[in-house]
Amino acid sequence: MKEEESGGGRKQGAGPPCAACKLLRRRCPRDCVFAPHFPANDPQKFATVHRVFGASNVNKLLQELPEHTRGDAVISMVYEANARLRDPVYGCVGVISSLQQQVGALQNQVALAQAEVVHMRLRQTLAAAPSSSRGLVASSLSRDINHSQCYYYMDMEEPLWS
Ligand SMILES: [Zn+2]
Repeated sequence: MKEEESGGGRKQGAGPPCAACKLLRRRCPRDCVFAPHFPANDPQKFATVHRVFGASNVNKLLQELPEHTRGDAVISMVYEANARLRDPVYGCVGVISSLQQQVGALQNQVALAQAEVVHMRLRQTLAAAPSSSRGLVASSLSRDINHSQCYYYMDMEEPLWS
């Protein structure tokens, strides 16, 4: 590379070779497929995808894609490569799975909180209603509960939080 630069042999003219060509110790051609996505000032980016996917696979994949989608593909590959290095077994699937578990746990918390609200409303309404109309109030509240798709309304007498 030094020889090329000092001899003025690089066709690209100004600027250093891209991070990919530098790592691969090859000449960076004017139409280098890596150059727009792997600038010389961020060598770690290409090193990571090279380590996980291999330079020739990255090259092949980029060549097969329309140019306007290559930027997104590179972002995706860098993300996946980093995830794969952190978690060699599951890669980014591990991250997705963990986020899905969090979503499930949070949905349960929301459902419990909604049930708690309905429970408290029911108790409040029943306490305020005259004893003769309590059955009517309770059945009308049950309809509301069904409409709000609350699945925990059966257990009105038990505290919902333990
Ligand atoms: Zn290059």
